[in-house]
Amino acid sequence: MDGISRALDEVLLSDVKCPVCKQYMVPPIKMCTNGHNICSKCTESVQLCPTCRTKFSETRNVALENIARRLKYPCANRQSGCLDKFSIEHIAEHHAVCVYGKVKCPFHLYETCPWNGLKSDLKEHAKAEHPDYVLEQSSIHFPYLSGALAVLSCFEELFTCYLQYREGRYYGAVQLIGPSSEASKYKCEFTLLAENGIEQIRKTFLVQGYSDNFETIFNSGNCFNLDEKTVNNFVKENELNLYIYLYTM
Ligand SMILES: [Zn+2]
Ligand SMILES: [Zn+2]
Ligand SMILES: [Zn+2]
Ligand SMILES: [Zn+2]
Repeated sequence: MDGISRALDEVLLSDVKCPVCKQYMVPPIKMCTNGHNICSKCTESVQLCPTCRTKFSETRNVALENIARRLKYPCANRQSGCLDKFSIEHIAEHHAVCVYGKVKCPFHLYETCPWNGLKSDLKEHAKAEHPDYVLEQSSIHFPYLSGALAVLSCFEELFTCYLQYREGRYYGAVQLIGPSSEASKYKCEFTLLAENGIEQIRKTFLVQGYSDNFETIFNSGNCFNLDEKTVNNFVKENELNLYIYLYTM
């Protein structure tokens, strides 16, 4: 791209900035009855045009939508250092994998860890602050009857393994710290072994993406989900004999 078209892109980009949320608008771009633009997300939360206080119409700004389709949008993590630009079709895809995007420490669920930083710094943080629950391996013995969370570092990725006891049932799931599209390249196997070495329960599930919350995963049924009575057959001296293994597909 030459200097002139780059400068033109910058000017056009300022025209597609939503006046409410300050994000770049992507089609459909709605208008108020006086022709001011707003992103479709904001029309759901804002009743009147922020510029002229008239109502929004159902009319779309097709001309601006066409311009938007030809623009390269900067990554939303530009301030953190990502200088990449993408067409509208590809920007959402990029945001899901951008290494400059911030992630919450998975231990915020258990120890209310407030850490929120770059994915590339998460491993170092987790090893320093939660050393007992971060392992450089693709499997883990999970004896925690009251539920727990552990991080596995393997396949050059980070995974969280989570078990929770709730109202007479045990729920467990594995998440990739990354987008769902990447997570579906992995599967996890939950294996309960009885003391006699004969009885076992083995269940395999897809690894979930990090943006899915555990509540959603547990309700979806795509996770480890067994009643307490069954699980108690695999408890010895107050320790659960559960192993979680991760595999690539
Ligand atoms: Zn908006
Ligand atoms: Zn207006
Ligand atoms: Zn980016
Ligand atoms: Zn943490």
